[in-house]
Amino acid sequence: MEMRLKHGLRPRPAIGLGGVASDSVAASGQVKPPVSRPSVMQAPVLVLNATFEPINVTAVRRALVLMLKGVAQAEETNHTEVHSTQKAIQVPSVIRLLSYRHIPQQSRALSRKNILLRDRNTCQFCARAFPASELTLDHVMPRSRGGRSTWENLVACCYTCNNRKGDRTPEEAGIKLQRRPRPFTLHTSRQLMRLIGHRDEKWRKYLFY
Ligand SMILES: [Zn+2]
Repeated sequence: MEMRLKHGLRPRPAIGLGGVASDSVAASGQVKPPVSRPSVMQAPVLVLNATFEPINVTAVRRALVLMLKGVAQAEETNHTEVHSTQKAIQVPSVIRLLSYRHIPQQSRALSRKNILLRDRNTCQFCARAFPASELTLDHVMPRSRGGRSTWENLVACCYTCNNRKGDRTPEEAGIKLQRRPRPFTLHTSRQLMRLIGHRDEKWRKYLFY
């Protein structure tokens, strides 16, 4: 069963940066990051609190917005640049918030993006990893049977498994859920940060403290 939530990783329309960033903040409270290949814009960026404590993982696109708004600055960059009409910006690998933000122990907002992040873009039935665009969300207990849209009942699912499962429970469809879905807590974030941090040496010095 397919469900699309608001904050999907869909590429947004192309809008150049050329000197309009501060104006557009003032006008609409929103800044559009420069345009680049979607794969670059979706690469993970480690977010540090003002105190250098790692607090989150976000995508390059969101990190650039935070930088352009003056909320965060890049602490580490990778060797890629994104270009606007007037300037080139180094793609960040680690950013730091300029003012301290209290991070509640509450779990994150339930969204398609966060479910894919929790499930590491991996279909929870066949255990294969996919690009976000090739994944949907599956209600483990189908909605038609009273299954709700909760952290415990939504999982990342590839279209093949989603079709195979249809309006059935995993048991009825003869497919096995890889692991029991859980809410995305700060603990999940930390696990994810460490997992990705093993691959990115620029993250490591901030993660193992
Ligand atoms: Zn699958």
